[in-house]
Amino acid sequence: MQDISLSLRKQNETIGFVPTMGYLHKGHISLIEKAKKDCTKVILSIFVNPTQFGKGEDYEKYPKDLNRDKILAETAGSDYVFVPSVGEMYAENFKASVKVKELDFVMCGSFRPGHFEGVCTVVAKLFNIALPHRAYFGLKDYQQYLIIKKMVEDLNFPLQIVGCPIIREDDGVAMSSRNKYLSKSERKNAAILVECLNQAANLIKGGFTNLEDIHNTMCEKLSGNPYVSKVDYFDFRDSETLENISSIDKHDFKRSGSNLLIACAIRIGGTRLIDNMVFDIGRVT
Ligand code: AMP
Repeated sequence: MQDISLSLRKQNETIGFVPTMGYLHKGHISLIEKAKKDCTKVILSIFVNPTQFGKGEDYEKYPKDLNRDKILAETAGSDYVFVPSVGEMYAENFKASVKVKELDFVMCGSFRPGHFEGVCTVVAKLFNIALPHRAYFGLKDYQQYLIIKKMVEDLNFPLQIVGCPIIREDDGVAMSSRNKYLSKSERKNAAILVECLNQAANLIKGGFTNLEDIHNTMCEKLSGNPYVSKVDYFDFRDSETLENISSIDKHDFKRSGSNLLIACAIRIGGTRLIDNMVFDIGRVT
């Protein structure tokens, strides 16, 4: 793959890169299409990275359909599909690790210790293999996007990170390979996640500034749903620094040039689902 990328670069091609764990859906396809618009060659990688899964998580059962993925990827505009094996990515004596401090303490980081270190390490490797000019990430995984952007900035990776909007089902549920785990009634109830995000946003638009109150109301609503087995978090944070925000009035958004991130993670049965919304505070205050 690296030889191909080196030769593409020699031919003055612009390489767009879309890293995924496969089992493609329209969210992934939107990233490939965006990359195709911006770049002359698109590389998609499919790699279910063991080091970003914790004990008891779904590494072994993560859904796979490589043949279908290859067709979807090609139809959407991928020129190459890179599917390394675990052995190729991690030799027996593999020792390196990439960690972005602080941004990984909070939100998903505090519920999935080691997750973002696994993500950064594999993405750093993939960048060095695919040698892209631009890499495309979904804002669905907002914290991941922010952490990768920081890694690229701090470690001088010569590429641009492009964040792409969340693609949703008709009822608003964010597309995810993990939605496959949900039973019919669980899937129907998964819409509560986006409902709560919208409701929180509407309360803020309506003039509520005490985010702790909104947090409590939303956590109660989520916990009250019989299909929600656990609420990991429902957080209001600065969209650049991930600082916790308890009151809109008291937070200086202008200092960091940021917006309000409303982010949430819950479990429905055994399935962990995340979603978020970046709220343009400038249009409210
Ligand atoms: P995954 O295969 O889940 O690791 O995701 C690969 C990439 O697709 C990541 O950058 C995700 O943020 C992005 N992605 C996943 N779901 C969506 C979605 N519903 N909308 C936009 N991007 C997504």
